[in-house]
Amino acid sequence: MGGAHFTYVGRFAPSPTGALHAGSLVAALASWLDARAWNDGRGGRWLVRIEDLDSQRCVAGATERILRQLQDCHLQPDQPPVYQSQRTHLYQRALTQLVDAAMAYPCACSRKDIEAAIARQAGQRERHGELVYPGTCSAGLRGRPARAWRFRSAPAQGGAADPTRAGVTWRDRRLGLQQQDVADAVGDFVIRRSDAVFAYQLAVVVDDDAQQVSHVVRGEDLADNTPRQLLLQQALGMASPRYLHSPLVRAASGEKLSKQHGAVPVDTADPMAALNAAADVLGLGPQSGHVAQALHGWVQAWRHLYNPVV
Ligand code: GLU
Repeated sequence: MGGAHFTYVGRFAPSPTGALHAGSLVAALASWLDARAWNDGRGGRWLVRIEDLDSQRCVAGATERILRQLQDCHLQPDQPPVYQSQRTHLYQRALTQLVDAAMAYPCACSRKDIEAAIARQAGQRERHGELVYPGTCSAGLRGRPARAWRFRSAPAQGGAADPTRAGVTWRDRRLGLQQQDVADAVGDFVIRRSDAVFAYQLAVVVDDDAQQVSHVVRGEDLADNTPRQLLLQQALGMASPRYLHSPLVRAASGEKLSKQHGAVPVDTADPMAALNAAADVLGLGPQSGHVAQALHGWVQAWRHLYNPVV
């Protein structure tokens, strides 16, 4: 960036667990359009970040396929992509900062331990298939070996003891006012996993800050993570970007289209067909002609829908 400060930096941050499917192309197009619609005379910057920290889930060749699919659709990043697997020193530094501030603590609990503790408390529970951590290790490991590292969500929100606490509120540019009590909904969440992999929540926050991302545009399935990320930004002294969560593509079953649900790679050999389908999900009308021309038309339409200029 040559030291120049851009008022808009956006990004698309795919995990290379497979090629782009119809749903991930919607998120890519939405974030690209939002950057290109930025109207300050200089334009926005659009970056691609490959979220390849979880090597178990990464699929060989997926990154190259994703970059090729983006290129086929003329969604070109303004800088070469960055790879999270090459940036672990940044996540480690953030973890150290949180530990020094007593905002993170080591946790010795296995999933079984957490289940047992939850059963003893005769209640709490699970959310989106994830256990709400009952706080077992928040006061110390009591001689057990550390496995993961967790973030203290209650103090970050203003204290668990305060019954009037509203949790985290934020305004999504598409979904409107959102609210979540993170301590209640998620508990103290993992920022470094027991297999030593830094968790998505921490990595995404560190990278969005390091890359000076001003506007996050991503799929609505990730909206639920935003309050955790806002708390981490606050604890690390970082500015928070603005958020827009784009519509999801539903499978015939009504479920969100995902690689887990067998979504097929989007065929970008016909980029206009792929882009028209994605634009339709975003509520933008159809375009014909050349890809570049069509994208230009969608940028205009996007400005009317989401007016990114603030
Ligand atoms: N890597 C995440 C995913 O593919 C997206 C992260 C983000 O946009 O914040 O689901």
